[in-house]
Amino acid sequence: MHIIKGTPISPGIAIGKAIVKNTLQSEIHLEQNKNPNDEKQRFHEARLEAIEQIKGIYEQMLQTKGEEEAEIFMAHITMLEDVELIEGVESTIDELSCNAEWALHHIAKNFIAIFEAMDVEYMKERAMDIRDISSRVQRILSSDETHNIFELKEPAIIVAQDLTPSDTAQMDPNLVIGIINEDGGPTSHAAIIARMMGVPLIVYSNITSLVSSGQMIAFDGSTGDINLHPTKEFIEEYREKQLKLIEKKEQLEKLKGTKTITTDGFKVELAGNIGMPKDVKAVLEQDGEAVGLFRTEFLYMSRNDFPDEEEQFLAYKEVVEKMQGHPVVIRTLDIGGDKELDYLEIPKEMNPFLGCRAIRLCLSKPALWKVQIRALLRASVFGELRIMLPMITVMEELIAAKEIIEEAKEELRNEKITFNENVSVGMMMETPAAAVMADVFAKEVDFFSIGTNDLVQYTIAVDRMNTQVAHLYSPYHPAVLRLIKKIVDSAHEAGIWAGMCGEAAADKKLIPLWIGIGLDELSMSPPSLLETREQIQGLSKKEAEKLVDEVLSLKTAKMIEERLQ
Ligand code: PEP
Ligand code: MG
Repeated sequence: MHIIKGTPISPGIAIGKAIVKNTLQSEIHLEQNKNPNDEKQRFHEARLEAIEQIKGIYEQMLQTKGEEEAEIFMAHITMLEDVELIEGVESTIDELSCNAEWALHHIAKNFIAIFEAMDVEYMKERAMDIRDISSRVQRILSSDETHNIFELKEPAIIVAQDLTPSDTAQMDPNLVIGIINEDGGPTSHAAIIARMMGVPLIVYSNITSLVSSGQMIAFDGSTGDINLHPTKEFIEEYREKQLKLIEKKEQLEKLKGTKTITTDGFKVELAGNIGMPKDVKAVLEQDGEAVGLFRTEFLYMSRNDFPDEEEQFLAYKEVVEKMQGHPVVIRTLDIGGDKELDYLEIPKEMNPFLGCRAIRLCLSKPALWKVQIRALLRASVFGELRIMLPMITVMEELIAAKEIIEEAKEELRNEKITFNENVSVGMMMETPAAAVMADVFAKEVDFFSIGTNDLVQYTIAVDRMNTQVAHLYSPYHPAVLRLIKKIVDSAHEAGIWAGMCGEAAADKKLIPLWIGIGLDELSMSPPSLLETREQIQGLSKKEAEKLVDEVLSLKTAKMIEERLQ
């Protein structure tokens, strides 16, 4: 048997043909018999888009760094308009009837070789510039390739090096049977989205070198087992497993319409996490009682410019209306970390998760952020919309964010546009600093929602994306659990509610603790909702409280996990 073991990320059985998505530059292949006019057009469109992107960076650099540093980007534009480069690519396409990627790769390589051979340092540096512009155009060209790959004609398993969150969000869950990715931990956003869509996912480094497109493979997303050459018997066995999962799902259907309540009457609000308005359907289908986290950054990703106020307003209104008066917690833009926006040039950072991310980024671009706040306020009259601020770490950020919300309200009043004057404003609890200061923050907001994905990484200093340190990343760490208890106690003392919307909210081993600690709301991927309800209906709050005392006296994550097992 050809079974290899990867890291299980999103549960479920996948059996099907693989499609391998290679994204590295070195993977550019010569493809012939292409239509030269189409390829030249693709090249020009990508080149012009690259010029537009660079103009944006130039303006930004001009404002933030000054003329000298911005100048280099002008030079990049000149290069992209260079007749020799353009004619070189065009004539290569004509001669070979080849793909635009290969023609550009070939011409850029020649230019680089010429510049590198020169004695003058200044000229040598131009080789770097050529590399830079060429990889920008290649990225643009490959993003339309990516698009093609996800416009699948038939069901397939996607095998990829570095599937981005927006790649995953663009996939059609009816055609993507499963994903094997080389990168990312269980709380990377590509993983979260896959779980939300109910698509099985495993991480296995090097997988793209072991599998070819068209190869039949099978894997189990809950164990991490990947069979690269499954036999007929093996496929039969996996089909049976699949059937059992379907049966279990059918059984859970019976819980629809019942309450999420413990045997001794403690009620929890069971909510779903979404990334796009269309995901509400899954929340409703799984009988979610609320939307506990709408990650609005996905509205901004997978496109080429910012969604305007009207577009955002319609998206938020749609979700709020579909939830028919049930709460909808909408988190303001959380870009940065592993979520990038191609059209928002954020300077490369050494530690993007510790950098200009989420509320920090938004407060540095208040005009842009206010567009979102205005859209949220306008949608607030259509149901129970709540605004949530991501990654608040220090009080100044909360004050500044609330000031902008007040400004937006004032603008709307002046424009005679209605909104809910009492709209709830809450904050994510995802940094240790915020957790330690929870009693202080609790007096300033209407609710807390604990983002364990980040709270874990920041508390134990383990990058949630880094597979090298993935063994250290644990929501069972006593430091994390103590912080969570402190957050919930502080919320209750101040008379506000506290929920949880990180992946740990649906962790079967931890749910008894969340009940014992007294979380008011749990928000998770829709496929986990009914299973969680079933579990909660079998728990006693009193017993769970005893468990919390016992667990919080244990010293290590391992001891805690074993006890909860
Ligand atoms: C979290 O950090 O737990 C969270 C819900 O936010 P995100 O995963 O989008 O960072
Ligand atoms: Mg987070």
